[in-house]
Amino acid sequence: MSDKNVAVVVGTRPDCIKSMPVVQALRQTPGLRTTLISTGQHREMLDQVFKTFGIQPDIELGLMKHGQSLSEMTSRMVLALDQAFEQCKPDFVVAQGDTTTTFVSSLVAFYRYIPFGHVEAGLRTHDIRNPFPEEFNRQATRLIACQHYAPTVLAADNLRKEGVPEEDIFITGNTGIDAVLQVAKLVPQRWYPDFHGRLILMTMHRRENWGQPMREVATAARQLIEENPDSMLVVAMHKNPDVRSVLTEALGGHERIDLIEPPQYEDFVKLIERSDFILTDSGGVQEEAPSFGKPLLVLRETTERPEGVEAGCARLIGTKAEAVLTYGRKLFHDKEFYIDMARAANPYGDGNASGLIAQSIRKLVVT
Ligand code: UDP
Repeated sequence: MSDKNVAVVVGTRPDCIKSMPVVQALRQTPGLRTTLISTGQHREMLDQVFKTFGIQPDIELGLMKHGQSLSEMTSRMVLALDQAFEQCKPDFVVAQGDTTTTFVSSLVAFYRYIPFGHVEAGLRTHDIRNPFPEEFNRQATRLIACQHYAPTVLAADNLRKEGVPEEDIFITGNTGIDAVLQVAKLVPQRWYPDFHGRLILMTMHRRENWGQPMREVATAARQLIEENPDSMLVVAMHKNPDVRSVLTEALGGHERIDLIEPPQYEDFVKLIERSDFILTDSGGVQEEAPSFGKPLLVLRETTERPEGVEAGCARLIGTKAEAVLTYGRKLFHDKEFYIDMARAANPYGDGNASGLIAQSIRKLVVT
């Protein structure tokens, strides 16, 4: 009997990073083969991730276009993925997370009666507009998926509450932890070898933080660095031009603030490892940083990752200057506060998620 074809669809940097260990695990599973499809939602950043993991897509859709609306991207993606599935005839489709690529993959699989598996299922803020459009994407994908790979017990509970049958839920851990542990081991440390003070890492890119919230956080972060002469701030700037202009205006021209191009994944992982604490609105970074014992101040009003807050690795502080200053100062000066956060165990996984996902798919499609 010929191997069953599992199409793995990726489109943005985070979903691609978290899908690479899944592709590796599927390729090692007897009875399965994979077709990796890239929608190219974040084209440039994807190529770097493929290189890091030594995996190339089988089908490239190249749908990235500057300035396109969500509707335009969604409609182009529906047609392109429909053609891709026609071409590769998958027996099963898998996609990760909460992007337009994830949602559209599930939709097109549904229209073609192909079973769909959702990696990182069950994350919820329960506010359909926040984060926008990701919360909608993940809830809509849940309706379609026949296998839901929940990273944590809490994510599985969210799915149960929405009526997903027990036998369709698999608690696997997060595949992002599989990726980060793999990559951290392979790459040597090269960041700021001559700097011996405290290094704060910041990333901010979420749509709901564009404009004033971002300006306020950046101004407070600058003040923190000015108050602590032994510190430096490293800002990994997202490619989005609106994000860059706000960050450059508020943080540019300071000798202890380094505004850098977004490092490639493996370099970014080493930067997390090199830092003392992190200011971020990124979902992936919230999961990765606890693997290195780095306290996180989460620059969001809500998070679909409360496990880190409950475990003590993260504080959800929002985007007001006062909160950034209060918690930033605590991390600088309150040793006990810092150590408690740094020592909390990572609730997001142990590095074995992808193998469990591959086994669930095998059970379903290899008869
Ligand atoms: N990341 C990266 N370079 C950067 C910032 C983030 O490689 O400059 C990685 C990070 O390690 C994580 C993923 O990209 O795995 C998170 O992406 P992002 O913050 O863009 O998206 P989110 O996780 O919020 O959806």
